[in-house]
Amino acid sequence: MRIQADTERCVGAGMCALTAPDLFDQSDEDGTVVLLPDGPRGPDADAAAREAVERCPSGALTLTDRPS
Ligand code: SF4
Repeated sequence: MRIQADTERCVGAGMCALTAPDLFDQSDEDGTVVLLPDGPRGPDADAAAREAVERCPSGALTLTDRPS
C-alpha cells in the first residue's frame, strides 16, 4: 500500500497525524501533512492509513495498492 499526499489540497486540519501518528506528521511551518517515510508497514498500518484517509476533510490523501 502506498500513501500519497497532496499538500496543495491539505488544509492542515491534522486529522491524519492524530489518527495515524506513525504515518503522518505536520509541517512546523504551515501545518500541512508530512508523510513519515519510515513508518510501520503491514495490515495494522494499512488500516490506520485507510482511517486517516476517511477522516481527512480536504481529500488530500489517497491510497494505492502499489507496494511502497
Ligand atoms: S487530515 Fe488531511 S487536511 Fe488535515 S493535515 Fe492531514 S492531509 Fe492535511
